[in-house]
Amino acid sequence: KSAKKADAHIEGASQIGIEVRKEVDFSTWYTQVLKRSEMLEYYEEVSGCYIIRPLAYNIWQEIQNFFDAEIKKLGVEDTYFPMFDSQRQLEREKDHIEGFAAEVAWVTKAGSSNIENPVAIRPTSETVMYPYFAKWIRTYRDLPLKLNQWCNVVRWEFKNPQPFIRTREFLWQEGHTAHFTKEEADTEVYKILELYRQVYEDMLAVPVIRGIKSEKEKFAGGLYTTTLEGFIPTTGRGVQAATSHCLGQNFSKMFDIVIEDPKDAKKVHVWQNSWGISTRSIGVMVMIHGDNKGLVLPPRVAATQVIVIPCGITSKTTEDDKKLVESKVNDVVEELKSVGIKAKADLRENYSPGYKYNHWELKGVPIRLEIGPRDLQNQQSLMVRRDNGSKEPIPLADLVSRIPDTLKIIQKDMFERAKKVYDDHVKIVLKWEDFVSTLDGKNFVMIPWCEEVSCETSIKEKSTRHVTEEEAEDEKAPSMGAKSLCIPLEQPNDPPIVPGETECISCGKLAKRYALFGRSY
Ligand code: AMP
Ligand code: ZN
Repeated sequence: KSAKKADAHIEGASQIGIEVRKEVDFSTWYTQVLKRSEMLEYYEEVSGCYIIRPLAYNIWQEIQNFFDAEIKKLGVEDTYFPMFDSQRQLEREKDHIEGFAAEVAWVTKAGSSNIENPVAIRPTSETVMYPYFAKWIRTYRDLPLKLNQWCNVVRWEFKNPQPFIRTREFLWQEGHTAHFTKEEADTEVYKILELYRQVYEDMLAVPVIRGIKSEKEKFAGGLYTTTLEGFIPTTGRGVQAATSHCLGQNFSKMFDIVIEDPKDAKKVHVWQNSWGISTRSIGVMVMIHGDNKGLVLPPRVAATQVIVIPCGITSKTTEDDKKLVESKVNDVVEELKSVGIKAKADLRENYSPGYKYNHWELKGVPIRLEIGPRDLQNQQSLMVRRDNGSKEPIPLADLVSRIPDTLKIIQKDMFERAKKVYDDHVKIVLKWEDFVSTLDGKNFVMIPWCEEVSCETSIKEKSTRHVTEEEAEDEKAPSMGAKSLCIPLEQPNDPPIVPGETECISCGKLAKRYALFGRSY
């Protein structure tokens, strides 16, 4: 009762929660979760740009810490190149510029005067860096060259912007490496893809499918692109989670990055890779794990893993008992911190326990501990899990062992639940008649495919529903066509693709492998 009373006194208390259901109005839900949890703020000045607030930036830093340490082990060094590029360099690789031209932002003015040679803001840094690779790489002893930078890039996208998922400026790392042999480049491509998988699956508890992009979807100017593809069950749409590209010798030919072969002194072009993961990852995690109470953070990336809240204090509680509870709350926090748990107490005076529960649920804190006068008598505390709402009394003496274990279990459960949902929504489709209806059921479809560009174009057309402009604005309407997400590294084998026999379900030519198709962000 006292809790309700206190609630009524807090201005805007009713505003604290999420007002729309995830299943009903996903895009409003997503925006509300991000804003009200204080992960993100809309930036009014320029559309498609957003303010990343500390709660979200902290997740980015966790990703940085992990990934950066791992690539250092592979011998990658940090660097920083300018964010501006000249038109001349940017346009040197024809396929590359064709892929990016429409999204490049240009600086054309300084103050009130026009800049004679406008400069481009990097959409990615291949063309910024590679003229200098050409300068630095002379002999095979200069290889491999492995550089990485953590930076922002700008792609002036015209598709609907979505916080984190598709923004005009975003943060990422871009790794750029040069190798003597293709084998060495190939090996690295997959090592990096594996690290990205670990970021998504082990840190963000987000399941992904590893694969290779089709010719149509591969990185502009590259040889081949490996990718992680995520799945947002609520909308049935896919999202490209991270990409690791083998550029082949394409850029080294355009930028003249050559060494002398130690064997026969002939000039050879180096083999190059580039790879990136962006702040999109944060959005994917929110979309998958958030619920109607707000964020649900996987323990490994939560800035606060445990919130300890005093409760059961009423007007009848003596001042001494209240003091005892508060001091126990503080003790518990210190104990948990001493074993490496990110714990915090919420001792705010003017807020009811109920309000505090909502507040920390909204922010996705994995575990809540409640401690009241009666708990003290019993030497226990109530542990509440954010991910599944389960409640369990835990003896105070066991907290330092039980909490770390429970955080691990939460991390694992979150991943496994999401993985099951993903797996259930990947449908093998063996005839075209089932393609669109399966897609409309918010699924991905896995089909025997010929891997031809013209076939992919035709699949996209055939799976696009013709809708009115109004419907098209409503992103719930499954109007957009399907594209190939990837050719999965792990191929289904039931039924197997029989070479020379199995046909592409769209065009009837011979199928090469299974490909994953879906609507995507
Ligand atoms: P790319 O250089 O196009 O392969 O992009 C590398 C990664 O950055 C992609 O795999 C996406 O996850 C991410 N990404 C691409 N475009 C955006 C964007 N507009 N906003 C946020 N992340 C993006
Ligand atoms: Zn085909």
